[in-house]
Amino acid sequence: MEKISWVTHPQYDIPLPENHRFTSSKFSDLYKELKTRDFSKNAVILKPKKASVEDLEIVHDKEYILKIKNGTLSEKEIRRLGFKWSKILSNRSFLAVNGTLLTCEEALKNNVACHMAGGTHHAHKSYGAGYCVMNDLSYASKKLIKNNIVNNILIIDLDVHQGDGTAEILKNDKNIFTCSIHCKNNFPFRKCKSDLDIELDDNIIDYEYLEVLNKTLDLCLKNFNPDLVIYDAGVDVHENDKLGNLKLTSNGILARDKKVISYFKNKSIPVATVIGGGYSDNNLELAKRHSIIFQAVDEIYN
Ligand SMILES: [Zn+2]
Repeated sequence: MEKISWVTHPQYDIPLPENHRFTSSKFSDLYKELKTRDFSKNAVILKPKKASVEDLEIVHDKEYILKIKNGTLSEKEIRRLGFKWSKILSNRSFLAVNGTLLTCEEALKNNVACHMAGGTHHAHKSYGAGYCVMNDLSYASKKLIKNNIVNNILIIDLDVHQGDGTAEILKNDKNIFTCSIHCKNNFPFRKCKSDLDIELDDNIIDYEYLEVLNKTLDLCLKNFNPDLVIYDAGVDVHENDKLGNLKLTSNGILARDKKVISYFKNKSIPVATVIGGGYSDNNLELAKRHSIIFQAVDEIYN
């Protein structure tokens, strides 16, 4: 049995004021939760190195990258991003993009790999938005294709929010297929056009969601043959999520994740997973929700 690569970094957490809707410690909380689980014995932990300004220019404007590096965002830009700038936020933003890239590289070696962060899909070319500083999904995809590691990548974004930044950044990349299943009435209220968008009404429950998912996976592969899938397993589709309007249970999310992982395993297409969004005042509960994708991968591969 191959070990499954889990990518994380001790500097991923984001310092935030109390009562912020984003959980400051969610990355270390998830790591702690995963270490308590039996299946963690099948995993190997890897740490990314920081991306450079030059690296990030593959998706972001240099001016914006330097604003993040140097802390020179305007008040308006800070409001749109949803985070105050700090040296720690800047540092982790340059780390996490390479975390997703490393996860993709590991998936290409071992068929599957999981990032304990990532899915910052609202980040656009020249600005951050909705708690997303840099667009790791676009970054990793474009890097792998530019370096001739793969030809075609499918990004499946099942976070409750639409992957608007990813869609916009990659709209002219014919080798990267972007698919987003999201709730129509959740942020962003002005959506961008992915290659395939599936909009859901509020209050959708497990079986309705899984039906849509089955059809959507087939649609993604109808005219596209990916060498790699990047899967955003956002858990803000959960019934108790603070922001999402859908009504999936934890079992429903496990079924969703196992469906995605087994679907591509059966077709011998490697999958790199990222955790995406999830919002709760209960840190342990949130960590447990984010751990579902790791459990799903273990159940399908071991
Ligand atoms: Zn989200």
